[in-house]
Amino acid sequence: MNADIKRMLETIRQEARLTAVYTGRAQFADKVMSAMAEVNRADFVPQVAHSQAFTNSPLAIGYGQTISQPFIVALMTDLLDLSPDDRVLEVGTGSGYQAAVLAKLARQVYSIERIESLQESAASRLNQHGFYNVSCRHSNGYEGWPEQAPFDAIIVTAASASVPPALLEQLKPGGRMILPLAENGLYQQLTLITKNAQGETESKPLLAVSFVPLIDD
Ligand code: SAH
Repeated sequence: MNADIKRMLETIRQEARLTAVYTGRAQFADKVMSAMAEVNRADFVPQVAHSQAFTNSPLAIGYGQTISQPFIVALMTDLLDLSPDDRVLEVGTGSGYQAAVLAKLARQVYSIERIESLQESAASRLNQHGFYNVSCRHSNGYEGWPEQAPFDAIIVTAASASVPPALLEQLKPGGRMILPLAENGLYQQLTLITKNAQGETESKPLLAVSFVPLIDD
């Protein structure tokens, strides 16, 4: 394994241990770590940032947007507890990196992006690198993807003040959703939402985070 990737994985492991008191996950599933090792983050960051591709920090991808830091990508993925047969919805395709990691662990990933040029470049990047089980769409993620609902898991990679109702509706009973919620519009908490077999939901704030805003238009 490439030394940069090895270092990235070690940082993720270390950060997982340091935040376990909040997240409840001192280490991530082996299959999540393998997916992090297999997806080359350098393929998803702009040329100018290649030398930083494996540092544990978010990076600019244009249009005022960012690719999330590897630890957060691994944490959100781990918290979804994906099974190989799952169908997952992602809101906020951005670079396509998170979608690629999910694609290693689930049957099909549906990813929505509201900035058309980001959506187009992510879709072609995913295709070019062989992530054929990711479907991309240019639309407003607040509305989810009703034609493909319900989903076993939903991940939102931009922050909103509350859970978009359509997303809650499109989550299967027994399903899990992970998203950053901005309390008072200010402080974001990575929040895990679970829906039980009766359709009742439970919400658990886990960790302070910083994401770009989810824009409703
Ligand atoms: N998951 C991405 C990081 C995304 S950054 C990655 O791995 O690179 C958040 C993204 O959410 C941005 O690209 C932003 O344009 C997008 N976004 C913001 N509001 C949105 C909305 N309402 N619907 C869909 N995408 C949205």
